[in-house]
Amino acid sequence: METKELLRVNHLKKYFQTPHGTLSAVDDVTFGINERETLGVVGESGCGKSTLGRCILRLHEPTDGEVIFDGQNILKCDKKEMKRLRSKMQIIFQDPYASLNPRMTVSQAIAAPLIIQGVYSPKEKDKIARKVTEMMDVVGLASRLVNSYPHELDGGRRQRIGIARALSLDPQFIVCDEPVSALDVSIQAQVLNLMQDLQQQMGLTYLFITHNLSVVKHLSNQIVVMYLGQLVEKASPDQLFRNPSHPYTQALLSAIPIPDPDVKMQRTVLQGELTSPINVGPGCRFAKRCIYAKPECREMNPEMTEIEPGHIVACHLAGTVNKTYE
Ligand code: SF4
Repeated sequence: METKELLRVNHLKKYFQTPHGTLSAVDDVTFGINERETLGVVGESGCGKSTLGRCILRLHEPTDGEVIFDGQNILKCDKKEMKRLRSKMQIIFQDPYASLNPRMTVSQAIAAPLIIQGVYSPKEKDKIARKVTEMMDVVGLASRLVNSYPHELDGGRRQRIGIARALSLDPQFIVCDEPVSALDVSIQAQVLNLMQDLQQQMGLTYLFITHNLSVVKHLSNQIVVMYLGQLVEKASPDQLFRNPSHPYTQALLSAIPIPDPDVKMQRTVLQGELTSPINVGPGCRFAKRCIYAKPECREMNPEMTEIEPGHIVACHLAGTVNKTYE
């Protein structure tokens, strides 16, 4: 089957004005995602991953750039068009408890988007009930829980409500914003398997935000690594783990635990000061923590360079500092 690009992000920027200056949370980010595929976004807390996801859905209004969804630049859409597109572009949040209204039952939480989007009027109680039952079945929630409140359910079941709610409008694209990081490890695998099964069955396209590299390796067709609001590397999982080429990616991968007591880990511990994201100056944003930094790194922000087909790196030494983490 021919693959079609469903989402393209071009030179996306999101700046926040603070009392101390301009905070560049997302700075000149460009990538595409093919239909029915998953793009994993990794990076440490505060690197701009979640802001990027929210800008793509216009939950934050971007400062500049383009978000092309199915051929349409959504940043140029008016409110009416945006409301229509909202049903095609959904989000699953990190903390299912915080994202659910504690006063709404499972049924009310799943039905809310259907009513807000005008799929059903609040009077169409039978149709709503049928759809709620169908969605609960899709995500594996027992029908006896239909009138339960979020506090009566465990984290895995609450996240299933979040997934059912996102799927109820039959979306094409979902931003998954750390959807399993608030769950127990045993439940994480169940929810990830469910999300993979649903992607297959419903032809979904995911932007999967996480700080867990093992998860992203398992789920993604492509991975982007973010550092202080910018993309520093983009590659397939195989390329990234076989040939991580940005010093920051190498440090991230070196921190993945190896489940073998006989293997000695060679962890790269990042040292040095974090560059402030406020009023960022010229030069590479990673320079203060980079063991390979040269004088030119502090003066010139590196361009993205393709070091093998589909594998791009923003580093002046791109392709010359390699390690393997397969
Ligand atoms: Fe390190 Fe220089 Fe590459 Fe930045 S551009 S990651 S400072 S080597």
